[in-house]
Amino acid sequence: MTLHVPLAPRRELPAAFSAALIELLGERFSTAAAVREHHGRDESLYDPMPPDAVAFASSQDEIVAILRQCHEHRVPVIPYGSGSSLEGHLLAVHGGLSLDVSQMDQVLEFRPEDMSITVQPGITRKALNEYLRASGLFFPIDPGADASIGGMCATRASGTNAVRYGTMRENVLGLTAVLADGRVLKAGSLAKKSSAGYDLARLMVGSEGTLGVISEITLKLHPQPEAISAAVCSFASVQGAVQTVIETIQMGIPVARAELVDALAISALNRYFKLELNEAPTLFLEFHGNEASVAEQAQSVQELADGNGGSGFQWATQQEERNKLWSARHNALFAFLQLKPGCRSSSTDVCVPLSRLAECVLGAQDDLASSSLIAPVFGHVGDGNFHVCLLLDPNDAAEVAESERLNRLIVERALAAGGTCTGEHGIGLHKIDYLLEEHGEVAIDVMRAIKQALDPHNLMNPGKIFRSVA
Ligand SMILES: Cc1cc2nc3c(=O)[nH]c(=O)nc-3n(C[C@H](O)[C@H](O)[C@H](O)COP(=O)(O)OP(=O)(O)OC[C@H]3O[C@@H](n4cnc5c(N)ncnc54)[C@H](O)[C@@H]3O)c2cc1C
Repeated sequence: MTLHVPLAPRRELPAAFSAALIELLGERFSTAAAVREHHGRDESLYDPMPPDAVAFASSQDEIVAILRQCHEHRVPVIPYGSGSSLEGHLLAVHGGLSLDVSQMDQVLEFRPEDMSITVQPGITRKALNEYLRASGLFFPIDPGADASIGGMCATRASGTNAVRYGTMRENVLGLTAVLADGRVLKAGSLAKKSSAGYDLARLMVGSEGTLGVISEITLKLHPQPEAISAAVCSFASVQGAVQTVIETIQMGIPVARAELVDALAISALNRYFKLELNEAPTLFLEFHGNEASVAEQAQSVQELADGNGGSGFQWATQQEERNKLWSARHNALFAFLQLKPGCRSSSTDVCVPLSRLAECVLGAQDDLASSSLIAPVFGHVGDGNFHVCLLLDPNDAAEVAESERLNRLIVERALAAGGTCTGEHGIGLHKIDYLLEEHGEVAIDVMRAIKQALDPHNLMNPGKIFRSVA
């Protein structure tokens, strides 16, 4: 056992329910142990907690039919995209059905003139960009894993590009979701903006499968940049790196990516990817535009870096060089795991106002200095979001407890700075206690009232975001 999972009452699937799903789905309804185990885990430290069965939906009509059965028989249901979430989102704490939508991976309508596209939820971000490759447009949100667009909506995901292009919140124009009783909700529109009533699309984005199953999504697209350049620059201090990013943003330089990687993380990257980067706090930067503008942006940022103790500013305009740099950053986790062979990583995810970022990163590094755990730090510094990758032996209770202690210190400091316990990974099971600390009782009461209105029998991914009321 690695992390404690709150126990909840479970009951066997009613025979009439299983019979109805077999009739509807045939072999796409499975109770095989391996299939259930695969669907009852994610990338968190929790031991798997399998659902009682898994249903693979191939259309929105099937989702409606499945949810009607779940509603009639009061069976909990957990939507499943690609299983890359990090906070225990997919564990079947109440048992029930995992509803896998990964086979619903089609583009439904592409509107290049409107720069928008409507997709099914199971398409992954990489498959979507492959589809768009020849169109001159792209979808910029890039969590480290090849997540599904439905899962990314449900966790309100972002990634390295968010400083310029925003998160899922800014890039979903509209969506369709099937509610717990099988009703189909259409929210948002194809228009770029709307003042029409409550913003239900935004409510579903970040709802972690607790309000409905997202079955169609309309996304904003962006022009592929004509030219891209990348740069790395090391700094004498974390403050110098962060101050450079603050000044870059204040000057209106439209930096596309600004990632901070601490000295320990750089040494791991050097060893694993055979790089020769200076082992000091470092910024990885990327600029999008035309040839002249990316050169101008990089030049301006270099001047700002020089004024903040930056050194060794290196540019990479060729695709091969750029890919080498960014591939090291994107695959950093593999390099970090080599720092402690056999370990797993538990990642913090706080996000704070930029003006407080340096103090929060340094505070975390102070906490780590007196800890037995090894923990490289990296983050989407342009957004104020950083991750401490706590490396631990999941079977060592003392190490797990130490990582939870450090996580709490880091979250408390972020909340005191006006930030949030999670910039992009979501609440799932792991951050339930922090949600109340962050938002206070009134906000939690309002969230619970919304949940109660849409899912009165607590069937949709129960026990996530807040604990189920017994
Ligand atoms: C190496 C690595 C790096 C990562 N880097 C980032 C990062 O930089 N930024 C970031 O934001 N995240 C990151 N993540 C986390 C993860 O990729 C995201 O949380 C992602 O959005 C999850 O998508 P998924 O398809 O895997 O969803 P799943 O894990 O399958 O599901 C996640 C949640 O969404 C719900 N859900 C899934 N599909 C639907 C649907 N159609 N309707 C309703 N609810 C649904 C599930 O019930 C669950 O609660 C990383 C993960 C890994 C392993």
